[in-house]
Amino acid sequence: MELPAVEVSQSPENKFREYLSSRSRPQRYTDQQRDMVRYIFAQHNHFDADQLIDDMKRAGFSVSRATIYRTLTKLVDAGLLRRLEIGPRMFYEHDYGYPQHEHMVCEKCGKMIEFQNSTIEALIHDVCRQNNFQQTGHTFIIRGTCTDCNRARVTKRRLDLI
Ligand SMILES: [Zn+2]
Ligand SMILES: [Zn+2]
Repeated sequence: MELPAVEVSQSPENKFREYLSSRSRPQRYTDQQRDMVRYIFAQHNHFDADQLIDDMKRAGFSVSRATIYRTLTKLVDAGLLRRLEIGPRMFYEHDYGYPQHEHMVCEKCGKMIEFQNSTIEALIHDVCRQNNFQQTGHTFIIRGTCTDCNRARVTKRRLDLI
């Protein structure tokens, strides 16, 4: 499930290139970084560094582990990706060109469900204003069990009763 994209002025690649060149010590946009940005932005997903390393290897790219870790940090810094801490794992997802949203995480199957809710957004906005707090971002995660896992559990319970 993907939320509708938000219109942005430039491509993720251009935005990243601009970020690299605007740093106090400008950096070159390498081929490995290009492969990564293209791969990540081809599809909206929640992934961790190890998953990305495996997926890109399987897709035939040769990107070093160190480059992946370093580039992920830069992509977050550049405003292209956002971090999502779930338990001990750190996930990443598109931020640039993707709408503000929250998550429900199924503790049984690991599914991540995205949702948007204007009441929650307004609430966060209010709390920040009351505390004179300048928000740079937030993570709001609901943990539990998804429809599919709930159905499986109910079915199992019914079978147990027979
Ligand atoms: Zn589930
Ligand atoms: Zn998400």
